[in-house]
Amino acid sequence: MYTIIGAGIGGLTTALVFEKLNIKYQLFEKAKGPNALGAGIWLAPNALQVMEFAGVLDTVTKVGNVVNRITLANQKLKPLADSSQLPAKEKYGFSTLAIHRAKLQLALIQSIPKEKIHWNKAFKFYKEEQDALTIAFQDGSTIKSKYLIAADGIDSKVRAQLFPKSQIRYSGQTCWRGVMQHPLPLEYKDRGIEMWGKGIRFGLSQLSETETSWFAVKNSKAFQKDDKTVLKNKLTSYFKEFHPLVNELINKTEINHILRNDITDLKPIKSWQKGNICLIGDAAHATTPNMGQGGAQAIEDAYYLGKLIAKHPNKNNFEQFEKKRFKRVNSIVKQSWFTGKIANLNTGTSIRNAIFSTIPKKMIDKNMYSVYDLKD
Ligand SMILES: Cc1cc2nc3c(=O)[nH]c(=O)nc-3n(C[C@H](O)[C@H](O)[C@H](O)COP(=O)(O)OP(=O)(O)OC[C@H]3O[C@@H](n4cnc5c(N)ncnc54)[C@H](O)[C@@H]3O)c2cc1C
Repeated sequence: MYTIIGAGIGGLTTALVFEKLNIKYQLFEKAKGPNALGAGIWLAPNALQVMEFAGVLDTVTKVGNVVNRITLANQKLKPLADSSQLPAKEKYGFSTLAIHRAKLQLALIQSIPKEKIHWNKAFKFYKEEQDALTIAFQDGSTIKSKYLIAADGIDSKVRAQLFPKSQIRYSGQTCWRGVMQHPLPLEYKDRGIEMWGKGIRFGLSQLSETETSWFAVKNSKAFQKDDKTVLKNKLTSYFKEFHPLVNELINKTEINHILRNDITDLKPIKSWQKGNICLIGDAAHATTPNMGQGGAQAIEDAYYLGKLIAKHPNKNNFEQFEKKRFKRVNSIVKQSWFTGKIANLNTGTSIRNAIFSTIPKKMIDKNMYSVYDLKD
């Protein structure tokens, strides 16, 4: 039996893949139920290929918005690099999907048998015994399990016990994410756009017929708090030099639909597994969001781990899983960290923009497909 901790993107996808492959599991989540809050995320074609494998592609696609063109632009929305997602659509059958995180979670939960998800069960610690692991929860209960898969996110409690020296890094950037309860003007409906300024950037995409999500990233000290009564004024003043669409989005967003998070990642750790315990998703390799790949990599983890277990059901596959995934994921973590630094440069932005606008399309596409392709 596999015990999965955490019903986020990684834990739920693991459950779905295990269902499909007839692998026995149970899932424990500390929240009392599905999360109604959150903002938009993009599911790139590598994530959607796994959704298709797990049999939930249609359910997920129905509650999201297809993005067929991704534009990196200067602050006035003049494109620096424009990438059509239509070749991806031809290759895989779909392009990128923008979706509200809460709707994604619900869509995944709907396809998992109810009795296999245990809510309000916060993992506390594990104990390794001769024949099995004992897993203890905050409510005082315990269970026995042969294997433990930790999908409990960047602040993973399992990781804190397994690898206590792991470190979360602050990127020097903070992020506001908003969901506006209106669609975008029609011309932007199927587009994902990111505009780079000086030490500041803004991204947007429509999430559904009635919602649009945006993010604003600014260089900042960590742990700053907002005064909600002046937050919109503050944000619109940061973006006064940007294309007018930016401030329109901020102004039309209800204040309770704006969230703030400092951007962090997990300093790459030497190993993701030990004995019968394995970390996946953000617990193992949290990345900055600059490539829109954190969730996708958690989803890929679920896929590769499930396939390995199904192929070798009578052995511990965690070391093999780590071998298969380590290089690819760490290179994405690195590339994403670097991209964030370039995107939020305070100086030299004209040179940066000039360089980006001359990168050959072939090179951009090659890099994109190296991320989108699943390799069995
Ligand atoms: C601003 C921002 C934008 C992003 N945009 C994108 C994007 O566009 N595309 C993309 O692919 N990724 C994106 N990501 C990354 C993505 O959100 C994460 O990589 C993804 O959520 C990781 O999934 P996970 O399941 O590993 O962790 P999480 O989604 O964090 O889930 C962890 C789960 O574990 C539960 N949990 C925690 N502790 C315990 C405990 N002790 N006991 C039981 N349960 C517990 C939590 O309640 C939660 O449900 C973004 C991230 C940020 C911060």
